[in-house]
Amino acid sequence: MNQVFALKAFEDNYIWVIQNQSHCLIVDPGESAPVIDYLNQQTQITPVAILITHHHSDHVGGVQKLTQIYPNLKVYGPKDSPFTKTDYSLVDGQKIHFNEFNLSFDICHIPGHTLDHIAYYNDDWLFCGDTLFSVGCGRMFEGTASIFQHSLEKLRALSDDTLVFCAHEYTQANIRFALTIDTDNQTLLNHANKVKQLRQNNQASLPTTLKLEKAINPFIRTHIASIQAQVSSKWGQVVSEPIETFAALRALKDRF
Ligand SMILES: [Zn+2]
Repeated sequence: MNQVFALKAFEDNYIWVIQNQSHCLIVDPGESAPVIDYLNQQTQITPVAILITHHHSDHVGGVQKLTQIYPNLKVYGPKDSPFTKTDYSLVDGQKIHFNEFNLSFDICHIPGHTLDHIAYYNDDWLFCGDTLFSVGCGRMFEGTASIFQHSLEKLRALSDDTLVFCAHEYTQANIRFALTIDTDNQTLLNHANKVKQLRQNNQASLPTTLKLEKAINPFIRTHIASIQAQVSSKWGQVVSEPIETFAALRALKDRF
């Protein structure tokens, strides 16, 4: 059976490992040491491939060392990316399959945080790197509000049951910001308590689900009139459609 779990990296990154009894896939190894340590303990596990979501060093920094140690490891990543050390360059709409796991992923191009950013998804799982976080989204380093908003729309269109594997543990800080916008959202308030407990016990707040994010993440709720009204009041200027609302929300979060 295929399972997903997190290896911690740096301060707050997660390297997601997809694994069955004999093989694994590694998503965004920003550093090699946590992966090497893990594989040294799990000697029955052969790493098959690395899946890269975007070119930032905290997502690709471990690739070179890992491919030196495991020469059969294949690297999948976005086409037209500053990160070029890939064996397979992926574009929007493509499907990849791994026989070892009987597992497929569709590729979705989701620029905004960076222009090369892609997501890997299937009916169960979404690996979305730094584009969508729980109760937040990535910083807009390379895209525009229009591009980023469009990418988030694409993710919002996936099934409610999808488990969302974000690349950072930013949930508590994101909740603090979201509560300044969506002050009376009871689901958000309840989730804040749950995450507080998890973090006190040093447990990950991830994965999340798209269903939950659709209820509490202001960055994918910019089409909702009450969110637009709350953002308008915080922003000091009326925003009345998703792109404008996203732009104001992102700017407010940047200075939060
Ligand atoms: Zn990034």
